[in-house]
Amino acid sequence: MYDVSKIRADFPILSREVNNKPLVYLDNGASAQKPQVVIDAVTRGYAEEYSNVHRGLHYLSNLATEKYEGVRGIIARFLGAPNEDNIILNSGTTEGINMVAYAWAAPRLEAGDEIILSVMEHHANIIPWHFLRERQGVVIKWVDVDVNGDLDPEAVLAAITPKTKLIAVTHMSNVLGTMVDVKTICAGAHEKGVPVLVDGSQATVHAPVDVADIGADFYAITGHKLYGPSGSGAIYVASERMAEMRPFLGGGDMIRDVTRDAVTYNSAPMKFEAGTPGIVQTIGLGVALDYMMDVGMDNIAAHERTLRDYANIRLSGLNWLNIQGNSETKGAIFSLTLDGAAHAHDISTILDKKGIAVRAGHHCAQPLMEHLGVSATARASFGMYNTTEEVDALVAGLELCHDLLA
Ligand code: PLP
Repeated sequence: MYDVSKIRADFPILSREVNNKPLVYLDNGASAQKPQVVIDAVTRGYAEEYSNVHRGLHYLSNLATEKYEGVRGIIARFLGAPNEDNIILNSGTTEGINMVAYAWAAPRLEAGDEIILSVMEHHANIIPWHFLRERQGVVIKWVDVDVNGDLDPEAVLAAITPKTKLIAVTHMSNVLGTMVDVKTICAGAHEKGVPVLVDGSQATVHAPVDVADIGADFYAITGHKLYGPSGSGAIYVASERMAEMRPFLGGGDMIRDVTRDAVTYNSAPMKFEAGTPGIVQTIGLGVALDYMMDVGMDNIAAHERTLRDYANIRLSGLNWLNIQGNSETKGAIFSLTLDGAAHAHDISTILDKKGIAVRAGHHCAQPLMEHLGVSATARASFGMYNTTEEVDALVAGLELCHDLLA
């Protein structure tokens, strides 16, 4: 039995007020709040257990190294990765995708080679490929979503040509909440010899994920959305692809030997982790993932389906409100616009006065905004600690917006 009040009690910030109203935190798509166990792990990491990792032979360095390195295995378990050596630790999805662009794609792709993206990608999965377009003449091919906000895997596969070198696609839209059938995309792409990068920033927060079952070549996650510290994250890289990657960031820790004339590199995944990492952040991420797995990813997914269904019913009852995207696969993310001239920022400002935190803007997904024909939306995105009462609070806040702005 999912006890949401027990879960809420684990997140201290949820009991605070904002603008003299109980906080209703619906900006989880941007970043999630942290449970006490994560806050404690970060505090302990600095107060009692801090040292640099990998380098010292003293007690604290060994302790920090053991805890930091232990997170690789936790992430591998969380993602269903075959081996912890398939996990490269980093600061989040943006770094993970940029690493693939620099370490794997840039040395392999030539002018005229193609990368397929969906129109609902976050800028983190667009800009690194624009760099290759600008610098190397790589061609970006876009696949649109349909009227419901669904991405047809067959449309993605149909875009493959002999020039296609990579498909880079989100597992879940941060704007529409659509889940993408990345398993079908991976299977079809592999038949044609095309690797697939999956942006798992949103999907991993809301449902169990198994990268081995999906068959992804690269699968990027970001810690701060997973109830962990900001500045933490990882990317799963299939062994075959890892072997094809050239080191990208150069510096300490990623080498075996350096002389005046030559360098030999550490083995993977360390070869791709230069410099002092986010030590405490990563340790905090491990605690956050353990927390989620203790609650149970299936339980979290079921709870959020209830929230989604309830929000769908309540929000659909407001005939002056537009919900962008109504995919059957949709998770509990609602991008909203009001009929008339009301701007998303005004909606967000009015909701904020009621203690309700939503995000307004283009959500780092400008090609999708253009496709939808809107400049901005107000996005309510739910997490494991949200409640149906908070859906009611959102609806009441939106009714106020309608009264004030219509
Ligand atoms: N991809 C998606 C779908 C996202 O929602 C986000 C964050 O909003 C990112 C990538 C970028 O994540 P980060 O900023 O943590 O690197």
